[in-house]
Amino acid sequence: MKKTYAKETICIQSGWQPKNGEPRVLPIYQSTTFKYETSEQMGRLFDLEESGYFYSRLQNPTCDYVAQKICELEGGVAAMLTSSGQAANYYAVFNICEAGDHAILSSKVYGGTFNLLTVTMKKMGIECTVVDPDCSYEELCEQFRPNTKCVLAETIANPALVVLDIEKFANAAHAHHVPLIVDNTFATPINCRPFEWGADIVTHSTTKYMDGHAMCLGGAIVDSGNFDWAAYPDKFPGLCTPDESYHGIVYAEKFGKAAYITKATSQLMRDLGSMQSPQNAFLLNVGLETLHLRVPRHCENAQKVAEFLENHEKVAWVDYPGLKSSKYYDLAQKYLPDGSCGVIAFGLKGGRKAAESLMDKLELAAIVTHVADARTCVLHPASHTHRQMNDEQLKEAGVEPDLIRLSVGIENVDDIIADLAQAIDKL
Ligand SMILES: *Cc1c(COP(=O)(O)O)cnc(C)c1O
Repeated sequence: MKKTYAKETICIQSGWQPKNGEPRVLPIYQSTTFKYETSEQMGRLFDLEESGYFYSRLQNPTCDYVAQKICELEGGVAAMLTSSGQAANYYAVFNICEAGDHAILSSKVYGGTFNLLTVTMKKMGIECTVVDPDCSYEELCEQFRPNTKCVLAETIANPALVVLDIEKFANAAHAHHVPLIVDNTFATPINCRPFEWGADIVTHSTTKYMDGHAMCLGGAIVDSGNFDWAAYPDKFPGLCTPDESYHGIVYAEKFGKAAYITKATSQLMRDLGSMQSPQNAFLLNVGLETLHLRVPRHCENAQKVAEFLENHEKVAWVDYPGLKSSKYYDLAQKYLPDGSCGVIAFGLKGGRKAAESLMDKLELAAIVTHVADARTCVLHPASHTHRQMNDEQLKEAGVEPDLIRLSVGIENVDDIIADLAQAIDKL
C-alpha cells in the first residue's frame, strides 16, 4: 500500500490486499501450521534464511495483516501482534533488557505495567527506576545508568490521565543512547503518533479503543525503525551479537530496520508464546476499520461530559486533558490537538463513600473492569483495580482514593449526561 494514504483510509484499506479472485474480507487463517513441498525449504525457514509461515506460534498471516495495518497507522516499519497489552510491554522491554540491565519507567502508567516492571521483571534481574513524568529534563537525565537499556511511558496515562512530554523523554533517552518506548493505548494513532515526536517503539493494548467493542484481549508492538542498534553494540548485544539459537545470526546486520521486531518474533514469541489468535486478530481488524470514526466521537462526548461535571456543585474535581483547568491542557494542545481520549477522572465532594454509592445509582454506565470501548462504563480504582493499595500508595500511583474513572462511550451524549445527573442527584 502506498504510504501517502490518510489515517482514515489506512483504517479501512490497509493490511489485507486481496488479489484477483481472492476474498474481499481478511480471511481467518485458522491453521496452526503451513505446508511445504521440500524439506530443504522448511529448513531455510527455520534458519530465517527465507521468510514464510511455518507455525502460528511465531507468525500467522491473519495476525500479520492486522499488524501491518497498525504499523501503517503509527507510521512504523515493522509490527507484531501479541496476546495482550501486558505481553506487548513485556516483550518490548525484554527484547532489549537482560538480567543485570536497568529500565526507566514513568510512575504514571497502567497498574499492570507498573507491576510488570517493578515486581515481576525485577525477579528476572532487570532493575527499574520509576520517575515522575512531570520531572525536569535534568532530573530525568539523572536517572540513567551505564546499564540503562530503555525508557517506557504512556502518551496518556491510564488512569492518571497525565499527558507525556514525549519530546522531553525522547531527547533524554537519545542523549543516553537508548530508545524511548511509548504505550500509545489511550491516544491511539488517530490522536497521536509518538514516532513523529521522537519515540522509537510504540506499544498498544489493542483491547481498548483499537478493538473498541470489549471483545478481545490483544496487544501490538510497532518499531519506527529509527533507533540505530548497531551504533551501540555493547549496549544491545541481543541485537548486535550472534544469536546461538539461530546459527549465529546477527539481527541488526541481517534484518536492518526490521531487526527489533524480527528478534521479538523469532526469539521471544518462539520461546514465550504469547501470540494473538487469528480469530481475535480478525475481530481486532473489524474494530480498526472504524477507529477513525469512534475515537473523535469518544473525545467529543468526553469533552461535554467533563464540562458538565466541572460545572456540577456536587463534583469536587475533574481531570480531563481537554479542560482548560487541566494541568495537562497545554501538553494536550501540543501532542493531542484533535482530542485526547474518552476517559475522564473525577471526584465527588462526598469523597470515597460518595464515589462508591454513585456507582450503584448509574443506570446506563456499567460497572466493569474495562475502559475505552463503545459503551460508557465506570470504575472506582480504590475499590476495584487498585484495591490492594493503601491511600498513600494510591496517591503515589496518581490515583486519588475518591477517583472515579469514567470511560465515556459513543452513545448519545445527552443520555450519558442525564444518567450521571440522576445518579449524582440521588447522593
Ligand atoms: C489495559 C492496558 C494495558 C494492558 O493491556 P491488556 O490488553 O489488558 O493486557 C497496558 N497499557 C495500558 C495503557 C492499558 O490501558
